[in-house]
Amino acid sequence: MKKFIVIIISIILIITGCSKSEQININNGERPLVYVSFYPMYFLADEIGGDNIELRNVTPNGVDSHHYEPSMSQLKDIEKAQVFIYNGSGFESWVNKLLGNMINEDITINASDSVDLIMQDGRPDSHIWLNPSNMIKIGEKIKEKFISLDRENKEEYEENFEELSNKLKELDDRFITELEERKHNSIIVSHAAFAYMAQRYEIEQIPVTGISHEQEPTPGTIADIIELVEDENHKYIFLETLASPKTVEVIAKEANLKTLTLNPIEGLTKKEQENNEDYISIMEKNLENLKKALVE
Ligand SMILES: [Zn+2]
Repeated sequence: MKKFIVIIISIILIITGCSKSEQININNGERPLVYVSFYPMYFLADEIGGDNIELRNVTPNGVDSHHYEPSMSQLKDIEKAQVFIYNGSGFESWVNKLLGNMINEDITINASDSVDLIMQDGRPDSHIWLNPSNMIKIGEKIKEKFISLDRENKEEYEENFEELSNKLKELDDRFITELEERKHNSIIVSHAAFAYMAQRYEIEQIPVTGISHEQEPTPGTIADIIELVEDENHKYIFLETLASPKTVEVIAKEANLKTLTLNPIEGLTKKEQENNEDYISIMEKNLENLKKALVE
């Protein structure tokens, strides 16, 4: 019997011990430390968590998040996080070093788990955030995680999520209705970042390079694109904010095309930050430019 009681007591100690370390001590003014891998996840966590969380972004603004490698001191700091949100499907090559090693997988949200992935050349395309309805699904997971850590602020997390998902739904509706009557169905883009946007709004993306910015197009690809531009009477080619525009400019000159920006929102530039741009305002600009190329 004594032995039995000892076992029961130790089980109780283990259970209460665990829940204590997981729940945040709100009375001490402590806020959950949330780490995100790059800007689109930062946007979601910030909108939902607001002042109730302490939020840090691993990838600094203005750098190419495809190729960013966090420093050793950054990795050490991520170890302290109560939540770690990343894109997954291979976008952050450095995440594998952390998982199950420096951070417990229980605290992580892999955004790619919440959406239907599009395969490209036998591997998942990681640009999932460019479909606003995917952002709602990922946001839902983030909201649930925040509530599980910090029940005191449950209502606020729910309200913030509700507001955010309304904004994203509105954005999604605008893309659908404003691109409905169009003259063209395809767009020429610098890298193949827009499959999720293209699938959602039934646009065909013709990329000059592959999924990553680094791939150089072959002379054959450039010739094919110039031919297609002439066949389909395209007037525009899309540039990106964080990628080198050199190849696109060569094609634009050869095929007599005007350039427009289509922002893959892989990070904010310094200027976008200064102008208080966010995911929604940049997507609205993307829509305006898509309308120029497809509708007008
Ligand atoms: Zn990309």
